[in-house]
Amino acid sequence: MIHFTCDCCKRLIDLEHEIRYIVRMEVFAAADTSVEAVDDDRDYLEEIEDMLSRDEHIDPLDNEVYQQARFDLCTECRDRFVSNPLCRPATVELGFSNN
Ligand SMILES: [Zn+2]
Repeated sequence: MIHFTCDCCKRLIDLEHEIRYIVRMEVFAAADTSVEAVDDDRDYLEEIEDMLSRDEHIDPLDNEVYQQARFDLCTECRDRFVSNPLCRPATVELGFSNN
């Protein structure tokens, strides 16, 4: 049987008694055409397509334009992640109005 470890707390996930959750993360530079101030000659979409079509070794964490990652989480870490996906400090207000 395949064993999975939570990528957050490193605990072994017991698939007979709990669910393994998968987080897929994709971070990419917005191709915001309304912003004309930055590097007009750079075609981010083309760069991303190039990157995806290449077979050579790419370190996605070493790239400013496109990053992708996948994590296995246990139930506790999944709950924590969903309630605070951007890892904000607990004291920060989440923007809810009192009105
Ligand atoms: Zn965990």
